[in-house]
Amino acid sequence: MEYKFIFNDKEYVLNENNLDYFVNDEENELGNLEVSDILNLLKNSEEVDFQSSYYETCCSNCKAGKEEKKKVFDFLEYYFYAYGKNGKFVTSSIDNDYDKKSFTRLNMEGIVDTSYLVTIMVCRHCGTYAIEIEEFEV
Ligand SMILES: [Zn+2]
Repeated sequence: MEYKFIFNDKEYVLNENNLDYFVNDEENELGNLEVSDILNLLKNSEEVDFQSSYYETCCSNCKAGKEEKKKVFDFLEYYFYAYGKNGKFVTSSIDNDYDKKSFTRLNMEGIVDTSYLVTIMVCRHCGTYAIEIEEFEV
């Protein structure tokens, strides 16, 4: 599984080889949502739009900007919401499984009970990326 996108004429490929780390919520882990599932969601969505972002920590792979003693480091970032029930992934804000219903609506209908923020961070220099899943109170 891999996901490709182009930002400012540069192609980025996200696959299992250039994943830096994957963190799933420590207190309330969301099951059934692995890296390959996330890449698949990105691949099948028309909405994915990475934005330029600046972090205070440099990329652990290439350390771009560290030698120049930069204070912020260039990354690309995208986030979406993942919804789960009983600790397992059900649907997300970027797929069409439930006709784009909001979390509140899905929650009311008993389809989901928890919401998570999924952030994908890509080093602008070398394309190494990381994924974080955090529970998100609506
Ligand atoms: Zn890098």
